[in-house]
Amino acid sequence: MISKGMTTMAIKQINLKKVYTAIYQEKETSKLQLVQSLQMGLSTVSQNLKELEDQELILKTGYLESTGGRRAHLITINKLARTSIGLGILKDCIHLVHVNLYGEVTHKQTHPIPYSDETPYYQTIGKLVQQFIEKNNINPDRLLGVSIAIQGIISSDGESVSYGPILQNDQLKRSTLAEFIPYPCRLTHDSKAAAYLELWHHQELDSAILLFLNENLGGAIMTHRKVHNGLQMRSGIIEHLSLNKQGPTCYCGSRGCLETYCSIHALVSQAKMSVPDFFEKLRAGDDHCQTIWKTYLTHLAEAIRNITVIVDGVVIISGHLAPYFNQEDLTFIQHYLKEIAPFPLTRENIILGIEGKYTPAIGAALYNIADYLKTMMV
Ligand SMILES: [Zn+2]
Repeated sequence: MISKGMTTMAIKQINLKKVYTAIYQEKETSKLQLVQSLQMGLSTVSQNLKELEDQELILKTGYLESTGGRRAHLITINKLARTSIGLGILKDCIHLVHVNLYGEVTHKQTHPIPYSDETPYYQTIGKLVQQFIEKNNINPDRLLGVSIAIQGIISSDGESVSYGPILQNDQLKRSTLAEFIPYPCRLTHDSKAAAYLELWHHQELDSAILLFLNENLGGAIMTHRKVHNGLQMRSGIIEHLSLNKQGPTCYCGSRGCLETYCSIHALVSQAKMSVPDFFEKLRAGDDHCQTIWKTYLTHLAEAIRNITVIVDGVVIISGHLAPYFNQEDLTFIQHYLKEIAPFPLTRENIILGIEGKYTPAIGAALYNIADYLKTMMV
């Protein structure tokens, strides 16, 4: 009897998930369309729709175009039934984003607060998260959690930062943040969160390398649609790829790392102006800026050449600088690679990230959404 009961429960659960999955994937559908696409009886579909509606997981948002007879309800996922907050921590500011079940950003905000690995800073972060929730009328009962993307390698159990020379946050623990943020907290490496965002946006991606062009450089490697962590979470740390042993000293202690050529820090130090000013002058044809930019792109291409020898994948240019790139820049990289790489890279295999400075915070928030959807979908 127990076994039979369990089986019935399991079948009910699977049917519910099938209906939810179909609505999620179709984005807009109707009861009859579900009956046809799922090959499920009308009464079973009706029961499941009622249950999903009772749980406020789906919405009847309007009517389908009438084809005669009674007009059918348009059914969609309630995108705000569960949501997630991403918090990006950087040396000089924090980014906050709120995303829905489709990974769409509904609210975002930046606060210019310098990082400090001390209690008052974490208290402030907790207050800002709370203000963000209140100001934007985010329903805390529907919040899956707050995911924090931070510079620094995260331990494999996700509980602490294991390497953090930039923010000097080697001792930071997830629990310290959780003390001031009263929601489930997750700690993630910012460049890996950025990579996760790209996997979300590009369902066709299998293997890829991510160049994360921020104040400090970052990177990630993706294989079989997963961010590669490695033995100690250090895979894809391309910022320390050595381009020149006699080059400038990197914060890691080595010389000539990619960080010293392709981080925003390196670009801005050379140009002696802010990123927006630099690109304004560059696009207006300023010679000095053009020379700096060509050198920058050359170094980036050299790094791509070396990484694509190891991982045969799509190249994704992401992070704060990505929105400043234009087609000409990508063509320059592609042409230079033709000269220096054993295998050319086709233009469609270079992707530009679109979320700019908010990339890690959004990517981090998506981990919660993905975990939730795994429980709801088949
Ligand atoms: Zn280095």
